[in-house]
Amino acid sequence: MLNALAEQPPDKILALMAAFAADPRAAKIDLGVGVYKDATGQTPVMRAVKAAERRLVADQTTKTYTGLAGDPAFAEALSLLVLGPATPADRLAMAATPGGTGAIRQGLELMRMAAPEATLWLSDPTWPNHPAIAKYLGIPVRTYRYFDAEAGAVDWDGMMADLGGAAPGDVVMLHGCCHNPTGADLTRDQWRDVAELCVARGLIPFVDIAYQGFGDGLEADAAGLRELVARVPEALIGASCSKNFGIYRERTGLLMALAPSPARLGIVQGALASLNRLNFSFPPDHGARVVQTILTDDALRADWKAELEAVRTGMRELREQLALALRERTGSDRFGFLAAHRGMFSLLGASPAQVEAMRRDHGVYMVGDSRTNIAGLNRETVPVLADAIVAAGV
Ligand code: PMP
Repeated sequence: MLNALAEQPPDKILALMAAFAADPRAAKIDLGVGVYKDATGQTPVMRAVKAAERRLVADQTTKTYTGLAGDPAFAEALSLLVLGPATPADRLAMAATPGGTGAIRQGLELMRMAAPEATLWLSDPTWPNHPAIAKYLGIPVRTYRYFDAEAGAVDWDGMMADLGGAAPGDVVMLHGCCHNPTGADLTRDQWRDVAELCVARGLIPFVDIAYQGFGDGLEADAAGLRELVARVPEALIGASCSKNFGIYRERTGLLMALAPSPARLGIVQGALASLNRLNFSFPPDHGARVVQTILTDDALRADWKAELEAVRTGMRELREQLALALRERTGSDRFGFLAAHRGMFSLLGASPAQVEAMRRDHGVYMVGDSRTNIAGLNRETVPVLADAIVAAGV
């Protein structure tokens, strides 16, 4: 049996991590994998997470199975964080999942179960795991224009024109905030227009929100998504706690499915629980319980928000510094988009050869499409990257 296996294509980002680790140069800079790093290059455990874990160790009396959809208290706390007080609880089915990836996977499984003929529309470009999972599940995929590389901004007209060609019942994947890999986000008005388009054409939005709190703040980052949820009859939302709680390896995520009516809620909830059962039975609990503990305790929540805010503003400062360093070196505002982008990533607009030259000559590692993890920088390495960008002729 195993002799019949074909070799799987390597994950480009994981391959980049391995190449970085093998590079003997001391001054190398890792701008590859999507992990937050502080000024010393560490990915720390957040204070509130440590405190919640201490509490769990002291107080937890059992580790028996939870429910198939995880602990409802976790789902309620996280859905409130994402969707806010206007959350339509009587229409919201929810299931805990292994990370945001698990939420995407389970959401696409749900789509395939409910609408096997529907097409999934993905932004061009998008996080590569979106098309990879859809392909694995046999879901037809089409892309919509999203990024104007010249302007370093959203190609709004292209996006609306392409989505205008989607068929009723198709699913449109949107990034809730901090678009990966471009860093270019929709405005609140544009979110409203997308919602209206979904209503008018009978499209179902699937919002992947993996970076809430990394862009303009916890509330602002979810504002567009909330506009959408207030308007559409149906939606899927996949939320990840990996980045904003810094609990990457705990695999903590939530899939939410907005049912068209309260009467449908039970059926949808049953489908989510059943899909969890079929794929892994019970979702991981430790990270979910940590998140629930933090979100439902005033002091822990305040401390978590303060630490997240410092992470967010630190990345914003790095963006400003990099844009300024490039303005000084190029005498133009060509890289001004770096300061306008949000979240960890921006696409620099470098060719694969230029990306390779930056790696070879300057020890700067970024993904081949020139996706740059801003959080991989610090005050000292911003000028090194700016020099590398200019030397490579980007
Ligand atoms: N969606 C996007 C756009 C992401 O960038 C990521 C993380 N790279 C995820 C979802 C899922 O992250 P995780 O499974 O680690 O929670």
